[in-house]
Amino acid sequence: MEKFKELGLEGEILKGIEDLGFEVPSPVQEKVIPVILGEENDLVALAQTGTGKTAAFGLPLLQKLDTTVEAIQVLILSPTRELCMQIGKDLENYAKYRKDIRVACVYGGADIRRQIKQLERGVHVLVATPGRLCDLIKRGAVQIEGVRAVVLDEADEMLNMGFKEDLNFILDETPATRNTYLFSATMPREVERIAKNYLHNAKEISVGKKNQGADTVRHEYYQVRAKDGYETLHRVIDCAPDMYAIIFVRTKIDARDIARKLQKDGIDCDALHGDLSQAQRDEVMERFRGKRLKVLVATDVAARGLDVDNLTHVINYNLPEDVESYTHRSGRTGRAGREGVSVAIINSKEKGKLRRIENLLKKKFQYREVPGGEEVCRAQLLYYADKILAVEPKETLDKYQQDLFEKFISLEKEELIQKLISYEFGKLLKKYASVEDLNLSDEERHEGKRSRRESRQEESRYEFTTFSVNVGREDGFTPRDLMAIINANTPRKGIEIGGIRIFERNTKFEVDIRGIDSFMSHFRNVNFNGLPFVLSEVRDRYNSERGGRREYGGGKRNATANNKWRSENRRSDGSSRGRFGEKKKGKKRG
Ligand code: ADP
Ligand code: MG
Repeated sequence: MEKFKELGLEGEILKGIEDLGFEVPSPVQEKVIPVILGEENDLVALAQTGTGKTAAFGLPLLQKLDTTVEAIQVLILSPTRELCMQIGKDLENYAKYRKDIRVACVYGGADIRRQIKQLERGVHVLVATPGRLCDLIKRGAVQIEGVRAVVLDEADEMLNMGFKEDLNFILDETPATRNTYLFSATMPREVERIAKNYLHNAKEISVGKKNQGADTVRHEYYQVRAKDGYETLHRVIDCAPDMYAIIFVRTKIDARDIARKLQKDGIDCDALHGDLSQAQRDEVMERFRGKRLKVLVATDVAARGLDVDNLTHVINYNLPEDVESYTHRSGRTGRAGREGVSVAIINSKEKGKLRRIENLLKKKFQYREVPGGEEVCRAQLLYYADKILAVEPKETLDKYQQDLFEKFISLEKEELIQKLISYEFGKLLKKYASVEDLNLSDEERHEGKRSRRESRQEESRYEFTTFSVNVGREDGFTPRDLMAIINANTPRKGIEIGGIRIFERNTKFEVDIRGIDSFMSHFRNVNFNGLPFVLSEVRDRYNSERGGRREYGGGKRNATANNKWRSENRRSDGSSRGRFGEKKKGKKRG
């Protein structure tokens, strides 16, 4: 608690988080809380899911409230209904000892009249999805002229979901004197634009990735033919009777199809994806939280920000498109010191991607054989036996006891167990009596020449984007410096660097930025020999000047592995990426 006190929190709010068991602030809380409590600064904070953002803005804003003023003073915008409800619940917990504070949540897909009634009773803090809030404003059902602070939570996600216009509308309705706090996991251009238009003198804060690959997470993979992916998944689930897991898939169609198949195969599961109505999403989440579903099949976007504890497994039915997402997925298990397993089901073509993830995690995946029928049955039966051993006989059974005993009197104990198991597990035992061995031979796994060549090809297919930076030979800048700066400031290690040309006063270089969100934003506070390191993207002129495929430079430029000196550096959208806030100019030269 001392640490929270040092940040400026006090009184009842401290008591509230003490009850929640918070002991020390998370890094984002350490940086954000003093800013919000302190001078009137706006704020842009880059932080991933699970870093503790809600308390970072929630605690200081609750503390700053003046509850003698009857008006909405704090407005928190969040992309989905679940996230709104979660924030609302968190804030109520923080304010457990502040009965004078009133928090309300409004979101789409729920009865608007009830929300209007709640607003009429008076609210200090409003948590809202942008769409619903716009509706309420347009109906005149909510007054936000008294708002002193606006939080844009998961701003990138709100924009992804098409809330741009709603956000602009809402922000225009709030007083210009408000403070705005923007939180986002990534900084795509649209988020920068919002920040530029609506934030003033914003402080920028960025916290490192949360605990990449906590040590409590074990990483395992199954390598099978692509066509056997589903059956492998099915067996992995059947082989872990106490599993409580999220299965990540790439598309919403996959989510729906896999969930349906698993349901047919008798597994308690459902899908969470963008096409569900709010009511359906709620219903699915309620069943999953209540553990009535053993597994939830979800896309990355749908699962984002959901705070579900105690997952035993995270299953990557497909590896994510970008290797960074893997850490976000696997970080959902192994929480609170418990052991968790992150499982990847891959085919031979995905070996390369798996290796890239290993490099990023600095951890090895453990190869696992797909369980056969016997293993699955043994796991299920022993689990059942343990359950039976652990159960307390119900007292109400006494009445029937005599009759039951008489029924079974002729059976030996062994016979009784056999009958019981056959009755309970008949279907399972039959299904798994003879199943195909899905494992590849060692040769297929390691020597599969074709697939290896394919994965090599996949690995060497770079897509370079060309950048220019404002330091050059005159500044003593060398390719080695460039590579060191890039590797130190981008989240992915082993990033592919193409050609580098050092000029007198600037340097042009190629880099494969796929999988790295807003590449340039990572260099915002970087210096080289005291000069701000200012990047800009170079487009067609430089590329055409190079005559398409001309190659330059020589030797290995990649900080890690084999580099292929390709020059496929056309960006299909021809976009140029502005710097955040466009504030910093290049250095002046004498
Ligand atoms: P984010 O919004 O960044 O995704 P949340 O605010 O939902 O993250 O927090 C993630 C989890 O961490 C929540 O379960 C929350 O209760 C917990 N948490 C947050 N801050 C602390 C802290 N200082 N100590 C312990 N647990 C915390
Ligand atoms: Mg959050």
